[in-house]
Amino acid sequence: MSQYIGAIDLGTTSSRFIVFDRAGQIVSMAQKEHRQIYPQPGWVEHDPMEILHNVNEVTGAALAKAGLNAGDLAAIGITNQRETTVLWDKASSKPVHNALVWMDTRTDALVSSFAKFGGKDRFRAQTGLPLTTYFSGLKLRWLLDQLPEARTRAENGDLLFGTMDSWLIWHLTGGTRGGRHITDVTNASRTQLMNLATCKWDEDILEAFAIPKACLPQILPSSQIYGEVTTVPLRGTPIAGILGDQQAALVGQTCFVPGEAKNTYGTGSFLLMNTGRKIVPSQAGLLTTVAYQFGDEPPCYALEGSIAITGALVQWLRDNLNLIEKAADIEPLAASVEDNGGVYIVPAFSGLYAPYWKDDARGVIVGLTRYANRAHIARAALESAAFQVRDVVEAMQADSGIELKALRVDGGMVCNNLLMQFQSDMLAAPVVRPRITETTALGAAYAAGLAVGYWKNTDDLRANWSVDHTWSPIMPNEQRETYYRYWKRAVTRSFDWVE
Ligand code: ADP
Repeated sequence: MSQYIGAIDLGTTSSRFIVFDRAGQIVSMAQKEHRQIYPQPGWVEHDPMEILHNVNEVTGAALAKAGLNAGDLAAIGITNQRETTVLWDKASSKPVHNALVWMDTRTDALVSSFAKFGGKDRFRAQTGLPLTTYFSGLKLRWLLDQLPEARTRAENGDLLFGTMDSWLIWHLTGGTRGGRHITDVTNASRTQLMNLATCKWDEDILEAFAIPKACLPQILPSSQIYGEVTTVPLRGTPIAGILGDQQAALVGQTCFVPGEAKNTYGTGSFLLMNTGRKIVPSQAGLLTTVAYQFGDEPPCYALEGSIAITGALVQWLRDNLNLIEKAADIEPLAASVEDNGGVYIVPAFSGLYAPYWKDDARGVIVGLTRYANRAHIARAALESAAFQVRDVVEAMQADSGIELKALRVDGGMVCNNLLMQFQSDMLAAPVVRPRITETTALGAAYAAGLAVGYWKNTDDLRANWSVDHTWSPIMPNEQRETYYRYWKRAVTRSFDWVE
């Protein structure tokens, strides 16, 4: 048996290749950022060819760093930014348009037109999701409407749709020469085209959205051998795991028992709670989604609170306001003042996701006085992540009836001590960071490793999880609730902005 498992992590801001050992430790890693393309306000695109190129580069680099080659990997898993939509030409394997990124809001008119009949929750019973700009089904619909001849070509099976997992696997398995056109249940559950109970494309919704089935990938479990890579540098390696990034992090955090939850702080933040084999409908503004499906076992489900913008606000302070030079600079700047000075930022750049689902909200900074300075803005930016997570935790507790004893955290922002302490204070609960915070890639590696017998079962995986740091609440109750009350007021100021 080969010594290691590889994971390709197609994130929103970068692509990574990570090699893990049996203990879930990182053996080697390489990462490269890709361009964020903003053609107009609210629109966000990626170049799928650039991402493909970056994957090749980081894979080669990570293997070379550790002196490894494909033969040292028992399998690879793939995890990806979910909902981001690619449409490509089957004959040339080239995209016909840039990828529409999950946070892109260009489908807002389509959303309103569908919500007119039957409201936003029209498809919730079948899909677990409200109508919003977030999901890939309507992004695909937009492409089919806008690109010349796209619909006819999609009906004929000449154009193929996929999320980033499908796009990559098509290429890794040979593209025009026998490539596989597949996705896994977790990614499919974010198209709003899949029926949660059957895990198949829902014919009624396909008809309502006018999506031709011929362009959709085959839906498969998250852990099984799908095929072998036919291209260098991974030629011959089995592809054996696919998970949407947030579900991958749930697996990487080994949240296999109903009630266990994690929050990942990246571009946005995503809190998922395992609900086992039960499909729990949400009354409080959360999503019901597939958590994972390992091989022949039935799928496990999750409740999810999705927040569009947390780390992306830090990037915005860096790139659009030049307030900081690099993301890590935000912590010392925020720590240079005692508190937020009364300033609150609601980063509703793509509307507000859970639990509000307001496509027409836009960002606001409120509470400004002559006293406020850049440090207060920095602090308010970090605090906005913690407030949004509290909103979601409250919804999660209402929907599940389970009180969160502690929050397992991961993602790019969890190195930020000020944020983690404030999070614990806002939740009045411990916040726990595991030793391995690259849980997204780890989850994909776990799915692949289970399929090829590298790990025997989920107990093997649980044994790999251990605590690195715990933050406990220190803020007095009254102060906590004052902050949160102001936050709730600030949120209402962002509503109903777009006409
Ligand atoms: P993704 O998988 O969505 O691409 P990552 O988990 O890699 O995201 O996290 C990257 C995000 O974390 C970026 O949005 C960045 O602004 C933010 N970030 C990175 N370092 C810090 C830090 N020290 N403090 C606050 N935010 C940070």
